[in-house]
Amino acid sequence: MLTEEQITEIRERVSAATPGPWEVDMWGDFDKETIEVICGCAFKDGKITEDDVYFIVRARTDIPLLLDEITRLTDEVERLQTLYDVAAVERALNGKEVTMLTKRNNQLLADSVKARSEVSRLTKLLLNAGRCLRCSATTIVREQMIRECLECGTKIDLRKHGYEEPKL
Ligand SMILES: [Zn+2]
Repeated sequence: MLTEEQITEIRERVSAATPGPWEVDMWGDFDKETIEVICGCAFKDGKITEDDVYFIVRARTDIPLLLDEITRLTDEVERLQTLYDVAAVERALNGKEVTMLTKRNNQLLADSVKARSEVSRLTKLLLNAGRCLRCSATTIVREQMIRECLECGTKIDLRKHGYEEPKL
């Protein structure tokens, strides 16, 4: 991984060098005296500056470093993209699950309201018919508001089921 310092140094070498684009003009045999580095109108006298020389020499090390850094950053972007995609899928699934659970919860609440009202309807029917709430056998009156099952002996207090004592 390139350090901040290395990046700054490379930037400084780029800034110090003669602006590009540069071109190579070669003639005859490959020889340093027969190579010119031409940069548009910047090299008016066909000469390169000392900074240009440093830039060229260090390019041999800087470019591989920069290429490695590009590879590292590309891998990192892919890794983060994968993490992001996984997180997005998880969020979507969680959202769906919450929606599903909310629907199910609402359905259960509605069912429980229905069930309670059905229990109270059946309780009324049993009590009106003089039947036991536990075993549905016949009950007898024990006290004014108390009935007792002949089968299981359960005592039923009618006042607890909304019945009022008859007024005298
Ligand atoms: Zn009973």
